[in-house]
Amino acid sequence: MTPLAPGATIGVLGGGQLARMLALAGARLGLKTHVYSPVADDPAFDVCAAQTRADFLDEAALAAFADKVDVVTYEFENVPARTAEVLEAHCPVRPNPRVLALTQDRLIEKQFVRGLGLSTAEFADVRDAQTLAAAVEALGRPSILKTRRFGYDGKGQARIADNGDLALTFAGLGGAACILESYVPFIKEISVVAARSATGEFRAYDVCENVHEHHILATTMAPAAVSPATATAAVEAARRIAGAADYVGVIAVEMFVVRREETEELVINEIAPRVHNSGHWTLDGAETSQFEQHMRAVAGWPLGSTRRHGVSVRMRNLIGHDADHWLQLLAEDGACLHLYGKSETRDGRKMGHVTRIER
Ligand code: AMP
Repeated sequence: MTPLAPGATIGVLGGGQLARMLALAGARLGLKTHVYSPVADDPAFDVCAAQTRADFLDEAALAAFADKVDVVTYEFENVPARTAEVLEAHCPVRPNPRVLALTQDRLIEKQFVRGLGLSTAEFADVRDAQTLAAAVEALGRPSILKTRRFGYDGKGQARIADNGDLALTFAGLGGAACILESYVPFIKEISVVAARSATGEFRAYDVCENVHEHHILATTMAPAAVSPATATAAVEAARRIAGAADYVGVIAVEMFVVRREETEELVINEIAPRVHNSGHWTLDGAETSQFEQHMRAVAGWPLGSTRRHGVSVRMRNLIGHDADHWLQLLAEDGACLHLYGKSETRDGRKMGHVTRIER
């Protein structure tokens, strides 16, 4: 593909904080962003060059949008298949929409990862209370029941504990198609945020170590405190996944680290076909942020350096009323504050983040 020229327009599906930070990063390099979202007050609308407020299934609006942009990308993985199909008829979509089918369904995603020779939790397809009972028999307790589609931040999940009625648990997830996963006794959660360019160049950031609170990412530390061999294996796993998916853009792969006697083993949990919360530290803490990297990749440009600034970098999400302390954070030397411009503060809502670099 010929690289787009500065002044080109990148279409972004979704208008949340990820789209906002993509638009800001693109603007620095002279790229315009056209944001498409059905949510009228989405935070990316404040900072983009052009906007479409329409439903993701409004085919006339999609066609008009695609005709005005040079390439389409997305900030979330639940883009309907039909939306991607309509857009692809008009302009390139990156990462390619086959990746959406892979990452929208936990069962297909796990089968794909296993097919590459990488480890995942043990899993079983669950369609009803009977198949759940058989799956629990096979995988044991505790185990975790997850809806195959539309789960995030712990939503669409239920833990199968020692007691508890299986039929009720299944019904509690709305009767949707699920998978049961064996419980992984991890010592830490890490992620690899990396990018693959249109020419197949691959660059990863330092492996990140993530701590969740109430199922939502709370802090990310880079580099993760894992052995060099584990860090290399984690990056290689992400490289293999991105290569096999013929991926273009930033990808994040979430993994569990499990200790087996003296060694650490990796278990792949989830693939995000987009910029990722665990990569926010790169805005202040790396030579090229993940947002710039994604814009470079989808524009057909060379990737930038992923080198880290400082000895380590820590990112903390500002969730709900955490962001009320913005004045204090502004006054703190070395605290890099990012606020997403969301009009309403709600519990559990990501309102901003703060990054601190240890020099
Ligand atoms: P997920 O939506 O798959 O990213 O899961 C959300 C969080 O639940 C993960 O970050 C883990 O903390 C926990 N979790 C998910 N799956 C498992 C598993 N199979 N074993 C242990 N913990 C898990």
